Amino acid sequence: MIKEILPSVFLIEIPLPKNPLRVLNSYLFRGDGRNLLVDTGFNLQECWAVMESSLQQLQVSMDDTDLFLTHAHSDHAGLVEYLTRPANRILMSQQDVYILEAGLKDHRFLEAAAQHLRQSGLLAAGVPYTPQEEAVVKYASHKAVNLTQLREGDLLSVGAYHFRCIETPGHTPGHMCLYEPERKMLVAGDHILATITPNIGLWVVNRDALGEYLQSLDKVADLDVELVLPGHRNLIRDMRARIAEIKEHHRQRLDNVLSLVGNKRMTAAQAAAGMKWDLTFKSWDEFPFNQKLHAAAEAMAHLYHLVIQGQLAMSCEEGIYYFQLA
Ligand SMILES: [Zn+2]
Ligand SMILES: [Zn+2]
Repeated sequence: MIKEILPSVFLIEIPLPKNPLRVLNSYLFRGDGRNLLVDTGFNLQECWAVMESSLQQLQVSMDDTDLFLTHAHSDHAGLVEYLTRPANRILMSQQDVYILEAGLKDHRFLEAAAQHLRQSGLLAAGVPYTPQEEAVVKYASHKAVNLTQLREGDLLSVGAYHFRCIETPGHTPGHMCLYEPERKMLVAGDHILATITPNIGLWVVNRDALGEYLQSLDKVADLDVELVLPGHRNLIRDMRARIAEIKEHHRQRLDNVLSLVGNKRMTAAQAAAGMKWDLTFKSWDEFPFNQKLHAAAEAMAHLYHLVIQGQLAMSCEEGIYYFQLA
């Protein structure tokens, strides 16, 4: 479905079958000479069919349309191979370009999912070793494309809109938003969402993803924004109120994780099984494979943040990470 949300700005809703995110919000900014398309949907026939017919309906040719990817996740970048043309640019932050290219060349997504299954303790808890079934792995683009790297402060102009690139690491290491200061508009990808909180997951224990994310929330809270165009769900008017809610959510999560650990020693998988999730499943055992992986990654991000904060200690035994009070 296509909605014109502002003059020359169209929201294209790309369905995400059998995924709790339900829909990916792709945006088309119509320019005088060139257009800009933001984010794509999974590398799935159902997504491509809607994208292709929407572009036809809007009479948009990818020959004169550049593509901006907010981050490397497959629900945002999965269709990139079908949208690339000799004459268009595929734009993305430097850090997520590395991630996407490594995912294509060295199967890095697969490797990360495999490592996560081990390190989180999911595998030891009996979750099957099928990293290839994880959504980011399964629905990624399979062909290498020519990517153009963007950095903080780079400018992108399309018609009457002039965007500044804002690096917002956290949801992914190179997540990037686009800020339009005159229209007070933020193209937010998965940095800020309404009604659901963006998944902040740590797949490989190498960075404080949650710490980065909280800093990136403060960074955009300083911008003058009246309209947020998120990667999923509804548009957001009161950005600062939503940021305050998301920060409060993580504060509660950190408290929840700390009290779950208590005097025990636990893995991310064990913490995830005890955490509260906004999903319809009755128990942890009912979580499908993909949800278990993402929940354990989110638990890992919170546990590791508490290690960085000096509240928890971390140890590794036979490839599994354990957490206990510091
Ligand atoms: Zn994402
Ligand atoms: Zn997403």
